[in-house]
Amino acid sequence: MAKSTSIEWTDNSFNPWIGCSKVSEGCANCYAEAGDNFRHWTPMGWGPGKPRHRTSAEYWKEPLKWNRAAATAGIRTRVFCASLADVFDQEVAPAWRMDLWNLIRLCPYLDWQILTKRPEFIASCLPSNWGSGWSNVWLGTSVENQRWADKRIPHLIAVPARVHFLSVEPLLDSITFKSLDDIEWVIVGGESGPRARPMALSWVSAIQAQCQTANVPFFFKQWGGVNKKATGRILHGRTYNAFPP
Ligand code: SF4
Repeated sequence: MAKSTSIEWTDNSFNPWIGCSKVSEGCANCYAEAGDNFRHWTPMGWGPGKPRHRTSAEYWKEPLKWNRAAATAGIRTRVFCASLADVFDQEVAPAWRMDLWNLIRLCPYLDWQILTKRPEFIASCLPSNWGSGWSNVWLGTSVENQRWADKRIPHLIAVPARVHFLSVEPLLDSITFKSLDDIEWVIVGGESGPRARPMALSWVSAIQAQCQTANVPFFFKQWGGVNKKATGRILHGRTYNAFPP
């Protein structure tokens, strides 16, 4: 099936709703908010107290089509959920999240990559039959510096999941992980866009080395910067494109 997103580590993105509030330094230059300012997806703007915009019923049928195509091809397809929101945002009606879980359940040939900056709410938002984790759901958290790595990772790994992953993007400072024993995948990337903050080679190299030592698949997404196409995604003379087994 054709890839419908430019995000390097997934095949498709799906947004059950649009809108969010900033929670940490990694959100400072939120590209979803910038997109919303330009396209006005949300009715009253971005941020706390602003209603989230649920995407259309027609759009919600897209994953079902991807699932049918994946089943026919016999090839699992990755879906990043959500690039313009946060699934565990507490300003979203629980019924919307339940609808999302029901959709995910109907799509067993898709690997749903749910990435959040609010892992402290995952446990209380899971469906009652989550068990040891649904086989088609990967749970991830974003960590941009040491402080948020130390805070968020324990919440993430406390919840059972087929894959626990870290999106270390935008990497804003050096990070030393206390342990990667319960992490099955690490993505690293620099910030892109007009206000991109710099990322040092030494920060990326240290994380890659830590993943190598811990035998954790490492994916280097991008250097970022004002022109991310120009800076590319070569690290140590090669690309790093590993995925979880
Ligand atoms: S959590 Fe993600 S979507 Fe929400 S404001 Fe922060 S960067 Fe944007």
